[in-house]
Amino acid sequence: MSYFIDVILPIPLHKLFTYKITDAEAVFLKKGMRIAVEFGKSKIYTGLAYKVHENAPIGYEAKDIFQILDDSPLVNEIQLKHWEWISTYYMCTLGEVFRAALPSAFLLESETELELIQSFSKEEELSHEEYLIFEALQFQPRLSISQIIEILGKKSIFPIIKSLLDKHVVLVKEHIYEQYKPKLVKYVRLNEEWNSNEKLSELLKLLGRAKKQHALILTYFQLNALKKPIKATQLIEASNTSNAVIKSLIDKDILTYYFIQKDRINFDGKSEQIKELTTYQETAYNAIKSSFKTHQTTLLKGITSSGKTEIYVKLIKQLLEEGEQVLYLLPEIALTTQLIERLQYYFGEYLSVYHSKYSMNERVEVWNNVLGNKQKAQLILGARSSMFLPFSNLGLIIVDEEHEPSFKQYDPAPRYHARDASIVLASQHNAKVLLGSATPSIETYYNAKENKYGFVELNRRFGDVLLPEIELIDIKEKHRKKRMKGHFSDRLLEMITDALKNNEQVILFQNRRGYAPVIECETCGVSPQCPQCDVSLTFHSYRKELRCHYCGHKQAMPYNCGACGSEKLNSKGFGTEQIEMELEELFPDAKIGRMDLDTTRGKYGYQKIIGQFEAQEIQILVGTQMLSKGLDFANVSLVGIMNADTMLNFPDFRAHERSYQLMVQVAGRAGRSKKRGKVAIQTFNPYHQILQQVSTNSFDEMYKEQLNERWQYHYPPFYRLIKITLRHKDFNRVDEGANWLGTSLERIFKENVLGPSTPSISKIRNYYIRNIIIKVPQKQSLLVTKNHILRVKNSFQAVKEFLPIKFNLDVDNY
Ligand code: ADP
Ligand code: ZN
Ligand code: ZN
Repeated sequence: MSYFIDVILPIPLHKLFTYKITDAEAVFLKKGMRIAVEFGKSKIYTGLAYKVHENAPIGYEAKDIFQILDDSPLVNEIQLKHWEWISTYYMCTLGEVFRAALPSAFLLESETELELIQSFSKEEELSHEEYLIFEALQFQPRLSISQIIEILGKKSIFPIIKSLLDKHVVLVKEHIYEQYKPKLVKYVRLNEEWNSNEKLSELLKLLGRAKKQHALILTYFQLNALKKPIKATQLIEASNTSNAVIKSLIDKDILTYYFIQKDRINFDGKSEQIKELTTYQETAYNAIKSSFKTHQTTLLKGITSSGKTEIYVKLIKQLLEEGEQVLYLLPEIALTTQLIERLQYYFGEYLSVYHSKYSMNERVEVWNNVLGNKQKAQLILGARSSMFLPFSNLGLIIVDEEHEPSFKQYDPAPRYHARDASIVLASQHNAKVLLGSATPSIETYYNAKENKYGFVELNRRFGDVLLPEIELIDIKEKHRKKRMKGHFSDRLLEMITDALKNNEQVILFQNRRGYAPVIECETCGVSPQCPQCDVSLTFHSYRKELRCHYCGHKQAMPYNCGACGSEKLNSKGFGTEQIEMELEELFPDAKIGRMDLDTTRGKYGYQKIIGQFEAQEIQILVGTQMLSKGLDFANVSLVGIMNADTMLNFPDFRAHERSYQLMVQVAGRAGRSKKRGKVAIQTFNPYHQILQQVSTNSFDEMYKEQLNERWQYHYPPFYRLIKITLRHKDFNRVDEGANWLGTSLERIFKENVLGPSTPSISKIRNYYIRNIIIKVPQKQSLLVTKNHILRVKNSFQAVKEFLPIKFNLDVDNY
């Protein structure tokens, strides 16, 4: 009897691939174990065992597998069921889901490279073959899997690699790997021999007439009575001395420095008592619990600073006590620095964070802890990809800020929405979902109104602080009356001045980074364009550089126009960098910070800026939409939105909804403790209905109006959208392909086909782009629709000239 196994390969291939296995392997292999296999001409992949059977594949000769990589499944049955749903719903392959789901360290393949860990020295512990690899790495910095196969002259090398990884001889090379550098705080203590009150007079005698040293030692004894570690800075301040005084006492062997990691101080492993809920929060909490009895998914609509997090905390606590796993999904890890600290405080040893900015090793560790249902992984905090972890006992998924666009993955496939996919995941676990937001998405709110989701509202801010007072500033008028300084109206400047006078902090929001999005020649009107994309280059003044925000292209800022040679180059529009520079001139004494993609690179980039702002080392913080995400600063009294119009005019059916959400969220950063905050919105069009709705806090009115438009123009939630994107480097080919495809789809879907259209950025990285959108009415079967689309796709790709065109499908593309 011969046995075969179907394997999921991490490539966009619709079929599973079948390999030959031995009788023993057939007994050993279980669904969800990894296997190294060869695919194509000598390319090695990590595949996933799916099904053992006895049917030889038709059309090709099954190859042997190389190696079984796991002793037990790395992926469980529920996950595989979830992957299948994702692959069907989002029209992608299981292989693509597989690739997205696993930390890449689990997916070794031919090109994966290994690096030597320099500190390794226990050569005597290596086997002969391990030593060969170790030796080869003395001569070249990296080895790929294929090279290792060559060196060892055999293909079953994975156990050796695993052993080398386990023995810390090598690590898998990563391109974006950053070492964790914990923040250290400097403390001082008295050396053992002096450390008692009896020794004090002897010590003072020893110091003779050094007055400052006396003062410092006396202060030390005072502080030490509190039995808490003493910070160097604290000691200097309390004794009114200086660093030099400490230094001389250290030289005399009387004091010693020691260091404690900052996060270790905040969190000492013990859980804190959770906060007592206010009556309003308690009511909401109870309402959620009873809603869960009838609804799998419930929406908590709580205004900014109403204390949604505290309600989540109470729910989580209960679930953990019942022994179930909890997944807490966040839109971006940026805002988690504050949240992680808050949750660590409560759930310390039960909490793990999972995020793509973390190193592979950290991610592998979390994966294994979840797989083993370890204590440390009962509560997982993470961005969208954390819903792929191997949960076995999930009781609750919280989707915080559910309206956030970053829950949607655009590229590569699977193009999923983590909120929607996690609702499906929860139902597979028989778990509950809580969606939270101050400004729910139209679709979610609609589902709540239709009673598909449960609905709970919380309309009081914690401490009964009022929502901020919102002022619309008409900058058209201000320009006319010459009351603008740069991009600041006199009114906004006045408000900033007031806030600074009161020692309060200010947040200024501008949704573009860089200095100016467009540079234009005053003489001939030409703007420098990206050579690879159809966009104007953005000027970054700090490096005197032009950059493309789509492909990363950079060039020096030219002195004159490339078209006519004129030296008169003007900038149009403005970004965060320009605002920061204007502020430096307008408020030369204020400390100004900037938070955007350019200043927050790296794993701890955000943390630094947020930390400085929290410590009030920054008075005015300028930033992009990153600022809108759940940050909680106590001392911010003013939020300024520099220009509301660009968001409102963005060509997208959700532009108005998104602008509303963004502005309300940014505004929500103001006045979160005691005093009522202020928000200033600068605009050319203060009568715009969305701005009026933002300023009067009229979510329901906004919702009704937007819903009406969606109904009229056939958009979600009334119609589903499936978007097809075609890309190719040859303009004519993609154009012809798009027309062909459009015509074929129209034959089936009639007026529900939009396009082919050219997106506003029609070329990115030298690829020309065409879009076609198919609208699916509620009554039309989604499954039948998708089958039609796939059939058309097949005939499209049967045309030889069209086959090389990249063809992407995006279900619910918004
Ligand atoms: P939201 O997520 O709704 O914007 P948060 O949960 O961040 O609001 O709460 C806003 C602030 O109020 C936080 O600083 C939080 O610690 C505080 N807070 C909320 N509820 C309570 C409570 N019941 N007891 C003490 N502090 C609370
Ligand atoms: Zn010119
Ligand atoms: Zn570009």
